[in-house]
Amino acid sequence: MKEEKNKEFPIDLAVERLEQEVKGYDVPVVDLVAAQTKDPFKILVATILSARTKDEVTAAACRRLFKRVATPADLEAIPAPELEKIIYPVGFFRNKAKHLSRLPGVLRDQFESKIPDDVESLTRLPGVGRKTANLVVAVAFGKPAICVDTHVHRIMNIWGYVRTSTPLETEMALRDKLPQQYWLTINSILVAFGQGTCKPVRPHCDRCVLLDICPQLGVTPRKVPGKSKAGEKKKDRSMVKKMVSWNVNGLRAALQKGFLDAFRELDADIFALQEIKALPDQLPENVVHIDGYHSYWYPAQKKGYAGTAVYTRHEPLQVIYGLDNHDFDHEGRVLTLEFDDFFLVNIYFPNAQPGLKRLEYKMDFNRAVRNFMDRLAGKKSVVLCGDLNVAHKPIDLANPKSNEKNPGYSPEERSWMNEITGAGYVDTFRKFNQEPEQYTWWSYRFAARAKNIGWRIDYFLVDPASEERVVGAAIHDDILGSDHCPVSLEFR
Ligand code: SF4
Repeated sequence: MKEEKNKEFPIDLAVERLEQEVKGYDVPVVDLVAAQTKDPFKILVATILSARTKDEVTAAACRRLFKRVATPADLEAIPAPELEKIIYPVGFFRNKAKHLSRLPGVLRDQFESKIPDDVESLTRLPGVGRKTANLVVAVAFGKPAICVDTHVHRIMNIWGYVRTSTPLETEMALRDKLPQQYWLTINSILVAFGQGTCKPVRPHCDRCVLLDICPQLGVTPRKVPGKSKAGEKKKDRSMVKKMVSWNVNGLRAALQKGFLDAFRELDADIFALQEIKALPDQLPENVVHIDGYHSYWYPAQKKGYAGTAVYTRHEPLQVIYGLDNHDFDHEGRVLTLEFDDFFLVNIYFPNAQPGLKRLEYKMDFNRAVRNFMDRLAGKKSVVLCGDLNVAHKPIDLANPKSNEKNPGYSPEERSWMNEITGAGYVDTFRKFNQEPEQYTWWSYRFAARAKNIGWRIDYFLVDPASEERVVGAAIHDDILGSDHCPVSLEFR
């Protein structure tokens, strides 16, 4: 990371260079729709679909939908369950289908079936937040608006052009200082740039046109390709293992919600599951044995409860079931695979339960895990993954204040996390990402996932001596199928 510079970031120069640079990049999907149609209704629909969804998925959903829908009346004629099928697999497709179903009625009742052209009115439409509204105002109506999404927020802070902690703060700060001539285009430019070069994890600073002017605040660039000796890069890449951890909240239920598609899409070398709630003989053969993987199962003795499993492309040296502790080992919570140069410890930590009824049990379990990890770390690297059932810091949950004494955020559970990280174990996700609103679990109640009222309670931790082996870490919150989403680690 470069040292912070005091001088103001040269925004005009940056935008000028980026306008040239992103010409060769993929156009963000909403701009693509806008280029194909000037219709504010279609741009609004595309914008709603694009939230938390990859561009190529949104583009395909728009193509399917716009074959049948040209007006709000066309949209109203399609029942929500059918809409779900048309737009699947965009993120939050069920909620978006509900929003789209309600949209024509609200437009008719409040806006004479016309798309409003100001942010405040647009945010009264179902499924339209401030970001979407700003984007529609800018793209569909060409009016001054700054759409601040995660890329704009992140990159503006990397540049030190703003010092803010939320996208809304960034929007307000930019309204004060970003020259108005850039308001309309800054989102498209930075989305394309953020997807192509200044990526959220390991940005490609080595080939960035702004390298000479960017202070790179809080950034860990990728390793520069070509700086290694010939042949070394290929070898390095082949040595990186991708690992995924996912609390599936019942593997049989997850199978009905696209588990196998997600498994293939994530394409991991090691895939660790928690809360499988099934015995292997209750599962289809093509799930117990997935082609190309060895699988290991550790169900709880009690049927339909807890349990862990691991799929791995490489056969482990040995598999360790449990903690060798009678009090804990009947719930199938700890499944460890030993490989040549590391242990993979897959854990489903107990829930402290309402009223903290099971806190004592959990804290005993946590202490046993810590002893186990320390013992293993004395031999070789330790990668611990799973549902730790605790949010570590206020940034790791949406409502820290109101949960201070609740299970998953009690002082005792947090102090265990402090103890672990204080001893040097690394929370790998936070090594790369310091942003708020990065969650891995959402209650099924109150549409918490749609509103992103969540908790980050699924982790990959590594032992202190292995931090250098960590290449990347991510949360895959676009993958549905459970009340948790998968998290991943790239480990060299
Ligand atoms: S890619 Fe690197 S140099 Fe370029 S803007 Fe992002 S952090 Fe700065």
